[in-house]
Amino acid sequence: MAAQGDDLIGDVLLSEAQIQERITELGAEIARDYAGKAPILVAVLKGAFIFMADLARAVDIPLEVDFMAVSSYGASTRSSGVVRIVKDLDIDLHDRHVIIVEDIVDSGLTLRYLRKTFESRGTASLEVCALLVREGNQQAELDLRYIGFRIPPAFVIGYGLDVAERYRNLPHIADYKGAE
Ligand code: 5GP
Repeated sequence: MAAQGDDLIGDVLLSEAQIQERITELGAEIARDYAGKAPILVAVLKGAFIFMADLARAVDIPLEVDFMAVSSYGASTRSSGVVRIVKDLDIDLHDRHVIIVEDIVDSGLTLRYLRKTFESRGTASLEVCALLVREGNQQAELDLRYIGFRIPPAFVIGYGLDVAERYRNLPHIADYKGAE
């Protein structure tokens, strides 16, 4: 697969059709669970931007969306769990039903930080919708209400996920052949 002229793009792990089919199911589940609650979908930039766009359109009830940008300390692709907020949310979360929309949960440390931060703002409820969960790496106790796919421990790209800002525009999720 060298659609972008790049032989570091590995095998397709999840096709565009598989992803869309699962998002339709997740959207229906969320719409059912949150009927009458006008939830806020909160995504962390940049990796979750494409998932957020597709998921929001699959949830057929009134809702709001907001975005946060965080940066992990250090340049490593591995999460340290020490996170700095670069762009905060615009919407006040107090008394609101919040769903964190995550691209991939690896160690779970980023998510643990976000949960603590959002809970301290007085949310009425707080759940997580993660497109991908990498098996076997979670260091933190996780409570993931909605999960798209559990994937084996390989580094992946596409559908929002990058390596040095590249590959986010692949319509599918692929293995990355340059992984360390
Ligand atoms: P955690 O804090 O759960 O270890 O890290 C989660 C974040 O690390 C994700 O939101 C994502 O930005 C990044 N990440 C983790 N695994 C991968 C992967 O396989 N591919 C890419 N491109 N990013 C990943």
